[in-house]
Amino acid sequence: MKAVLLDRDGVINALVYHEDAGVIDSPFKRSQFKLLPRVPEAIRLLNDMGFKTAIVSNQPGIAKGTLKPAMLKAFERKMLAGIHSRGEHIDRIFYCLHHPEAKVRKLRQRCHCRKPEIGLLKLAAAELRVSLAECYMVGDGIPDLLAGSRAGCRTIFIGRWKCEICQFTEAPHVRPVFVAKDLWEAAQFIRSEMTGTGQAAFSPNCLVAQT
Ligand SMILES: [Mg+2]
Ligand SMILES: [Zn+2]
Repeated sequence: MKAVLLDRDGVINALVYHEDAGVIDSPFKRSQFKLLPRVPEAIRLLNDMGFKTAIVSNQPGIAKGTLKPAMLKAFERKMLAGIHSRGEHIDRIFYCLHHPEAKVRKLRQRCHCRKPEIGLLKLAAAELRVSLAECYMVGDGIPDLLAGSRAGCRTIFIGRWKCEICQFTEAPHVRPVFVAKDLWEAAQFIRSEMTGTGQAAFSPNCLVAQT
C-alpha cells in the first residue's frame, strides 16, 4: 500500500452542531474549524511509514450557499497549519464542490467526483501516481466506504457511533476492513498491516460500540 486517502470532516476536523439549523454538519465559520485530537500525530505516523496522503472531500457548502470559497481556503490554511507543526504533511487536497440541488448554478450537477462516486479518488490516485488498489480510504461516512470499496481501496471507517451504522456497514460492498475511533487508531492499524503484527489490540469489525 502506498497512499492514504482521507475524508476531511469527521476525520481531520470535528463536525459541528449548528444550533440555528439543528444539524450536525461541516464547520461554516473559521472558529468552528477544529482539528480532532491526535490528527497531527497520525499524519506523522503515515508520513514516517512512507505513505503519500491526500484529502478527498465533498464540500457542497459553496454550492448550497452556506460557505464562501474564501472560507474553504481559510479552513485549509488552519488545517495545514495545525498539521504541519512538526513537519507533518498532506500531499494534496481535492474537493468535490458540486451538489445536484445547488443554488449556485455552475455547481449544480450530478458529477462523477461526489462520493460515493469515485472520481475524486481516481484523481487523487492519479496525481499521487499510485493505483487505487494501493490506497487506503479513511472516512466517517457511508459514502466514503462505498467510494473506497468501489474504487478498490482498503477502507477504514472512523466511527464513535458504531451501532447506528452497523446495519449499513454489514453489507459486503460497504463493510470496512477496520473500524477505528479516530485517525490515530486508523494509522496504527495501517502500521500493523504493514508490519504484519496483527490487529489483536483493535476491534476488527463494526459490532457493538466499544469506546
Ligand atoms: Mg466525513
Ligand atoms: Zn463533484
